[in-house]
Amino acid sequence: MDNKKKENFSEWYTEIIQKAELADIRYNVKGFVVFKPWSVITMEKMYDIYEKELQDKGHNPAWFPIVIPESNFTLEASHVEGFTPEVFWVTEHGRGEKLEEKLALRPTSETAMYKMYSLWIQGLADLPLKIYQRGSVYRHETKATRPFIRSREFYWIEAHNCFATKKEAVNQVKEDLETTETIMHQQFCIPFIGFQRPEWDKFAGAVHTYAADTLMPDGKVIQQPSTHLLGQNFSKPFDINFQNEKGEKDYVWQTCYGPAISRMYASLISSLGDDKGLRFPFELAPIQIIIVPIYKEENKRNVLTYSKKIKKVLERDYRIKIDDSDNTPGYKFNEWEMKGVPIRLEIGGREVENNQITISLRTSKEKQSIKLIKLKKFIRIHAREITDTLRKEADENFKEVIHNADSLDKLKSALQKGGFVRVPFCSIDIKGKECADIIKAETSGDIRGTKVNDPERPRDEDKCICCGKPAKNIVYVAKQY
Ligand SMILES: [Zn+2]
Repeated sequence: MDNKKKENFSEWYTEIIQKAELADIRYNVKGFVVFKPWSVITMEKMYDIYEKELQDKGHNPAWFPIVIPESNFTLEASHVEGFTPEVFWVTEHGRGEKLEEKLALRPTSETAMYKMYSLWIQGLADLPLKIYQRGSVYRHETKATRPFIRSREFYWIEAHNCFATKKEAVNQVKEDLETTETIMHQQFCIPFIGFQRPEWDKFAGAVHTYAADTLMPDGKVIQQPSTHLLGQNFSKPFDINFQNEKGEKDYVWQTCYGPAISRMYASLISSLGDDKGLRFPFELAPIQIIIVPIYKEENKRNVLTYSKKIKKVLERDYRIKIDDSDNTPGYKFNEWEMKGVPIRLEIGGREVENNQITISLRTSKEKQSIKLIKLKKFIRIHAREITDTLRKEADENFKEVIHNADSLDKLKSALQKGGFVRVPFCSIDIKGKECADIIKAETSGDIRGTKVNDPERPRDEDKCICCGKPAKNIVYVAKQY
């Protein structure tokens, strides 16, 4: 890699996408990107892990159409207001014949799914209804697009749930935040803080929005999965009603949750990568073990035979490959390190003679020699260790970038350093919007909200850093992607 991640993150990001062949931005529709095998194999794994967790928690998969009629789309007023500027519309077919009704390419699927939910839900027996789909959504973003971080098509999961009571809906939101912790943090090694978004920054149509924010190496924040308490805001206009225990008509309480896999991949490569290139949690690496045979003409056959034997021992449990190309061993080492393969096995004449393997981990500088008989156990133990090491490192980097400020000037200079800045603030309900706008104009910082876990109460003497009124909230400010 030519660029150092910490010093030139933006260039590093562009370089790794090209060198590791993760995406190609040359597709001839603006804002649309081609994702290539080395990223898609990992994203498929991420989908599998996420979907399994959702299914274990009682969500079932479904596939809804990609097109949404305008008449569905306009049913919930603030939703249509929020999303209309970003919608791609399909208006004709064939040789310019107009469709009877304009169709939106789904920017999100509330208005597709809830139309059907109103047919599916009649009584308490139909509740709770917890359905998700995996797929892509389309938004005409006007901000600059970058592969994985933001493009006009992105790949995600959206889970849409209906409950008989508000309490169950609130619990679902909590469960979603736990799912983000279990999967995105524990398994994908991406640390985050969960925030309740301020009133002016919630999802169009939601009562409350909760989102997981993580940081890029340049100190800017990127939003990861958000979960929304929709209340009855959609169930009333979409007429999703049921007969309650008293035999009366009641409207369901709803939530939705949207882990965006392609965007999570942006955080994954950015926060785990280093100056040599990519690094992956063991489970997510497209190739988990690379065998590099090192031979001269006279021992080539023996070395390759031994390499194949080792591959055979491991291939049932792991994604493994022998690099028998004509490149030099040094070139191969660099190449597979750049590609993020977690474990490298080096096999030369000495290894063959002694029934040994030399092992090098992507997360460690040292090499180790072990006996062939111990190989399986070694890999089993180190697979877990590699992921733990990456998570620990990411957590430590993340902790370093939380600052404090008690004035606009201090906030401004703290934001220059990057990361989150904790500040006392008048209020995250709609009254605070004026102060948020001033803060944005003066510092380019966005108010991300109040922390969900371990909520922080301001002290009696704390004043809003903008208007000077008594602070009702401690909020986190950051510059965002
Ligand atoms: Zn204020």
